[in-house]
Amino acid sequence: MRFATSAFTAIRATSAASPAARFAQRQTLGSVRAYSAQAPKKGGNGLVLLTLAGLGALGGVYYNQNKATLKTSAVAPVEKVVEKVAEPAFDSKSFLSLKLENIEKINHNTSLFRFALPEAEQHAGLPVASCVITRYPITKKDGSTGYVIRPYTPTSPEEARGYVDFIVKSYPDGKMSKHIHNLKVGETLDVKGPIPKYNWEGSTIQNVGMIAGGTGITPMLQIIRKVFSDKSTDDKTKVTLVFANQTEDDILLKDELDKYAAQYPNRFKVVYVLDKPQQANWEGVKGFVTPELIKEHLPTPETESSIVFVCGPDPMVAALAGPKAKDKSQGEVSGVLKALGYGSENVYKF
Ligand SMILES: Cc1cc2nc3c(=O)[nH]c(=O)nc-3n(C[C@H](O)[C@H](O)[C@H](O)COP(=O)(O)OP(=O)(O)OC[C@H]3O[C@@H](n4cnc5c(N)ncnc54)[C@H](O)[C@@H]3O)c2cc1C
Repeated sequence: MRFATSAFTAIRATSAASPAARFAQRQTLGSVRAYSAQAPKKGGNGLVLLTLAGLGALGGVYYNQNKATLKTSAVAPVEKVVEKVAEPAFDSKSFLSLKLENIEKINHNTSLFRFALPEAEQHAGLPVASCVITRYPITKKDGSTGYVIRPYTPTSPEEARGYVDFIVKSYPDGKMSKHIHNLKVGETLDVKGPIPKYNWEGSTIQNVGMIAGGTGITPMLQIIRKVFSDKSTDDKTKVTLVFANQTEDDILLKDELDKYAAQYPNRFKVVYVLDKPQQANWEGVKGFVTPELIKEHLPTPETESSIVFVCGPDPMVAALAGPKAKDKSQGEVSGVLKALGYGSENVYKF
């Protein structure tokens, strides 16, 4: 997994003609449009209502206090307040310097980092599914300033106010992951987004297969949390997640995933796969994600209204679904999924 340059490069890149690319492009453009021009379906409506209610309330208060000057002066302060409440923190054009608010250890090498948004009442404005890019400056060999830039996937709910969460695994030699893990509460990180990925909001898909490896769980988590949230209208959507890791200790957020499986036994299934299980009594699958496993658990290429999402380390994605293109567009579907009959219309690589 490496970083994608910008939303616009991604949009341009996806115009590379394959149906999946065009599908992804429609998704992406839809998402950009929805983000920039329309009120989001759920939180957004709430926000509009809140805004209108706020307008009414503020107007009322202002009217009572300023009856004499209402005609000319009432409008400006109200508009100012509305703007402040409604504006999302991210605008995809510029980096925000976000202050680290809290760190929560998730396992031996992965933590959840909560960053404060500039305003306590702000929402991030990062739709499901999307990612951001992070950067920090470095001095290059020639003395000029360069940046280490890497993408990460927000895991806080879209409607969260005042903060955004990232789950980041630390690699021993990892430039950005170590930088983030070395941050202290109160220090800042430059973050820019959203880079729209798969526009779940605009999707009507009912049979979802997911293959995730390691931190490749993060975009899946965005979708799973959205589908199974209290406010969800995706009440017919079925999700099966095949989650591959090395050992038991590497499985991220197992409790949460198991909770969804227990709560929605007919709609959510998780299959854990470990290539190096440490315990003799490991009850999940041992080995790698095989064609047999995919056939057994995931929607088939013929399943109506279906998609298989894939996210994980580059070699895993390449083996299962073919590598993403150099420009980070989807590229052709190849590998195991192609051999099983899947095509670009029912596979999406994060
Ligand atoms: C769209 C997208 C979303 C992402 N979201 C997340 C996220 O939510 N959380 C998260 O932790 N990561 C995520 N990543 C991965 C992240 O962007 C970085 O690639 C990762 O943190 C490593 O960056 P680094 O600078 O620390 O390592 P680098 O300096 O780039 O690499 C140093 C060494 O670390 C090891 N390494 C790096 N990446 C991997 C890998 N994927 N698998 C195995 N070994 C590796 C290799 O040994 C490598 O030589 C995402 C990637 C993409 C493309």
